[in-house]
Amino acid sequence: MPSLFDGASARIEAALAHIEISDDIAQQLAQPDTALKVSVPLRHDDGAMKLYPGYRVRYDTTLGPAKGGIRFHPDVNADEVSTLAFWMTMKCAVLGLPFGGGKGGIAIDPKQLSPAELERLSRAYIDKVADFIGPDSDIPAPDVNTNPRVMGWMMDQYRIINRAEVRDVITGKPVEMGGSAGRTTATGDGAFHTLTTLMKRWEREPDGTTVAVQGFGNAGARFARLCAEAGYTVVAVSDSGGGIYNADGLDLDAIAKAKETDGSVSAADGQTLSNDEIVELEVDILAPAALENVITADNADRVRAGVIVEIANGPVASEADRTLEDNGVQVVPDILANAGGVTVSYFEWVQNRQAWYWAADTVAERLQSRMVEATEAVAERAETLEVGYRTAAYVIALEKLEAAAKARGTSAFFRTDNG
Ligand code: GLU
Repeated sequence: MPSLFDGASARIEAALAHIEISDDIAQQLAQPDTALKVSVPLRHDDGAMKLYPGYRVRYDTTLGPAKGGIRFHPDVNADEVSTLAFWMTMKCAVLGLPFGGGKGGIAIDPKQLSPAELERLSRAYIDKVADFIGPDSDIPAPDVNTNPRVMGWMMDQYRIINRAEVRDVITGKPVEMGGSAGRTTATGDGAFHTLTTLMKRWEREPDGTTVAVQGFGNAGARFARLCAEAGYTVVAVSDSGGGIYNADGLDLDAIAKAKETDGSVSAADGQTLSNDEIVELEVDILAPAALENVITADNADRVRAGVIVEIANGPVASEADRTLEDNGVQVVPDILANAGGVTVSYFEWVQNRQAWYWAADTVAERLQSRMVEATEAVAERAETLEVGYRTAAYVIALEKLEAAAKARGTSAFFRTDNG
């Protein structure tokens, strides 16, 4: 299988067939701008000290300071963090946010840690990357297995190091520490706005439309709930412990409870199914909301959903693109569908800088209008170019990056032959 980053580059190649960009920006986007690798020391509760590999990558800062989350997961590695930072670059461009792309992570299984160990790890990570991040250079946020509490510890550690409260250095904080209303639900909310906007364009109704959500974390669970409330039939959800199915629609309250008490949605009443099976279910909408490479060359042919809404980053591997397209599966790409999180992170950063906080309704309205606008722009471009939504989104992102790079000066500007 090609590396994650090779797969990401393939999507740029696909977009380049429809848009010309300068060599300057093409070269610049072919690799990360700056990458930091650190060893994060953690003193475990039993007294043992262990070092864990940590990363922070600023992929591109043409559109503004790098922005992107921090992931705690055993599979975190340099290639993954760079690719995630690349996707952040594209995502911020599609949404028109004044940010470049960044990402960070630690290769560790946080589920094996006590709360005190998790706090020490979070603070130790900031000790290592404090000179690399900053409110005008690189602004972290939550990602897989990190949450407002972790962001709060991290901001507090940054305060200790700098002897100053710097709220705009990190987003997704607890509201009590300068977080924004609506940030926790933002990724699921944004994905739902994107779906709603497209459903209107497709002239389709939620009633009678079936949905399966693979991944019942923060974003997946919120998306499932919004779909159910809007009249879709959510027939299946899963998490790393397995999944649950009901053709008539699931009881999401009971499922959330099962996850809380027993650790997995599969403990709820109903027919169980595996994570592999949920991807192959015959449903109208499949929303992979967990990790990368859930749909690959191996199983793409068995996907029977009509639409895939990518709530996770990179759930569809690039080698699956052709098969899905040939089979008529429409893919709503991650760099649009899951951009609600970073959009409210942007709102949080703005509120921190102004020390002036918005009501929950204001955040929700502004998120919705940004998501609808970006989705319409992607859908329109897809129609004009007769391409899928992913390629259309990449074309839009590349255009914005190209325009910003030109504004700063490119080879054409520096040429002395006036050619
Ligand atoms: N981790 C989220 C993402 O992948 C949010 C990043 C942010 O808020 O900066 O989009």
